[in-house]
Formats: sequence, C-alpha cells, structure tokens
Amino acid sequence: MKFETKVIHAGVEPDPLTGAVMTPIYQTSTYKQDAPGVHKGYEYARTQNPTRDALEKNLAALENGYGASSFASGLAAMDAILKTLKSGDEIISTNDLYGGSYRQIKTIFEKLGIKSAFIDMTDPENLRSAITENTRLIWVETPTNPMLQIVDIEAICKIAGEKGIKVCVDNTFASPYLQTPLDLGADMVLHSATKYLGGHSDVVHGAVICKHEEDYEKIKFVQNASGAVPGPMDCFLILRGIKTLHLRVQRASENARAIAEFLRDHPKVEKVYYPGFEDHPGHDIAKKQMRGFGGMVSFDLGNNNEEAAMKVLAATHYFLLAESLGGVESLIGHPASMTHGSIPKEERLKTGLTDSLIRLSVGIENVEDLIGDLSRSLENI
Ligand SMILES: *Cc1c(COP(=O)(O)O)cnc(C)c1O
Repeated sequence: MKFETKVIHAGVEPDPLTGAVMTPIYQTSTYKQDAPGVHKGYEYARTQNPTRDALEKNLAALENGYGASSFASGLAAMDAILKTLKSGDEIISTNDLYGGSYRQIKTIFEKLGIKSAFIDMTDPENLRSAITENTRLIWVETPTNPMLQIVDIEAICKIAGEKGIKVCVDNTFASPYLQTPLDLGADMVLHSATKYLGGHSDVVHGAVICKHEEDYEKIKFVQNASGAVPGPMDCFLILRGIKTLHLRVQRASENARAIAEFLRDHPKVEKVYYPGFEDHPGHDIAKKQMRGFGGMVSFDLGNNNEEAAMKVLAATHYFLLAESLGGVESLIGHPASMTHGSIPKEERLKTGLTDSLIRLSVGIENVEDLIGDLSRSLENI
C-alpha cells in the first residue's frame, strides 16, 4: 500500500456490527464477558479499546513499524519510553530539543537515577565520544525547533547500532509523510500527534511506534501499567486528521517555501531558517532523508531587536499568535519569550535563538493571503 492509501485504509475496517465506514468511537470502559476470561479480546478500556486499536494499526503502517502505542499526549508517550530504562542507565539527546522533552528528562527522570547528556548531533562523530558503557538510549529530534537544525538519522543509528544502543527519533516536525526514521535504522519513533498527525489543533495526543516486537511489548506494558492512555474520542480525531495528512503537509510545505522565499528577499529580514534552502546547514542531509522540507520557517529581524519582533507579532491577522504547530491554520510565535523562555539567554544566543527571531507554522490557507499578511506586518517596523 502506498502512503496516500495507507492514511485512509491502514488499520481501518468497516464496523463489523453495522458496516459503519468510519471507525466508531467505542465510549466504554469495560466489555461484557461470556464467562470469566471468555471475551472478544477486550476486557477493560485502559488495556484495549477498538477505536485506539484502529489508530495504532494505522500509525504503525505510516511509520513502517511493527506496532504502535498511543498516549494521552506526546510527553506521556515519551514518559513511557523513558520508563523502560532503569536507574543507572544513560540517555544521550540532541541539544536543540523540544523544551518539554528536556524538562521531562531533567526534572522527572534525573532524580530517578537516569543520567543524561545533551550534545550537538549535527556532527554525528560527537556521539561516538559521548557514549559510555551505561548509554542505553539515543534521543534525536530532527528537524529541530525553532532553528530547524538537521541531524543525519542514518549516521546516528549506525554509530548507536555498533554498540547495541537503541535510537528514538521525535518525528513530530517532519511527520511520516516526509520522514520515516525506522527505515533509516531507528528503533522507535515518537510523535506529538497534537501537531501534524491530528492537524486541526483540536486534540492533544501522543504515540510511540516501534520497529521491533521486543520494544513494542515493553512500551505496551508501560501503556497499561502506568495508564496514560488517550480516550476513544481523541483517538477518533487523530485517525480522522491522518486521512488528509499527505494533502495538508504537501500544501503547508508549498506555502512554506513561497513564504521563505518572500522573507529572504525582504529588506527588513536579516536571516531565514528553512531547510529547503541550499545554503541551510544540513540541507543535503534533509534532502537525503526527507521527502520534502515541511511547513516550518523561522526568520530573524536582526540586531536582537525584540521590539521589532513584537511589532510584527502584534500585527498579523491570519497568522495567529500561539504555541504549537502543524495545524491547518497558520501560527506565529516568539520562541525567546514563548516556547524557549526557560532557556538561559546566553544558551539561546549561542544557537542563534535571538530576541528578534520569529517562528512560523505555515498552514494551508491561500499563500497570497499569507504573504500579504506578513508583508503588511513587516511595514510596521
Ligand atoms: C509538542 C511537542 C512535543 C510534546 O507533545 P505534547 O503532545 O504537547 O505532549 C514533543 N516533541 C515535539 C517536537 C513537540 O513539538
């Protein structure tokens, strides 16, 4: 099955009872048993739910994995992965990662005895020297937020594989339409399905997709034993969002390119971060491991001028000032004060995350309307 067919058909069968074409929302906590232990494969809804099953089968197919487990949020999914580790184990992560992922590693798991190191993996050789005999998991985010750094997944997996260390890739930014890390050697993929998979900014959801049965069984065990499961309505919404994933990501990517080009030529914009530009660091790797460059664009007005950034943010009409990304609507944000406010300024500035940096999650609206919106807002500075 090709991707565009998978999004619609994988894991989804007409309801056996009624023939309903769309997966029903099985809003039930328990299931009648014919005799103790004699049932139809469903006992209790933390453990199994048919709406969730359909979504998990669909997600496994999209990422070419053995199996998927879905969770109440992206961070709940990450929590399940980290709970497969034990005290004394070590994680090595990319240094430019989602703030909530960093916070979870540092504040929740560090005190449980799991050590962590955050390194620049844009040069995969940095990983080789960071690995210790206790390293059990490599955590990779690519492209990153908001600098859109690119990490070579295949090169990282090769180095980790030599030592038998598992690799998990947070594939939230790319979506499986543009990037399938399991095909590049990764063992696990994490999604904040809140973003592109759901695609309509109306639900918070997460998933882990495993390449191997043994990892899948471990995650499934934590899913049931810790219990951070999603409700059936949320599973339904993600499944529904996924049906148009390819169309949405295609259009968002086209719009993002046009907007990145507009911004690059604009006299008031100093720098544009967009992996589709040939001079973007990591462009060649992105070209090799992704099937497109996605809908995220960041740009810098220069001189660390926060006031100018605030003027632009305040003036857009279609680009809504909000956190999150990956929805049909375009969003605009100021990473220094919003998503990355907790990172010390000196640390931020080192990676180019200035006070004049603006991040866009480009939606699927008419691109001329979007460019017009940015053009008018830039006139304010
Ligand atoms: C949003 C996000 C997360 C966290 O997911 P939630 O669904 O908000 O819990 C993790 N990683 C990335 C890259 C994200 O953008």
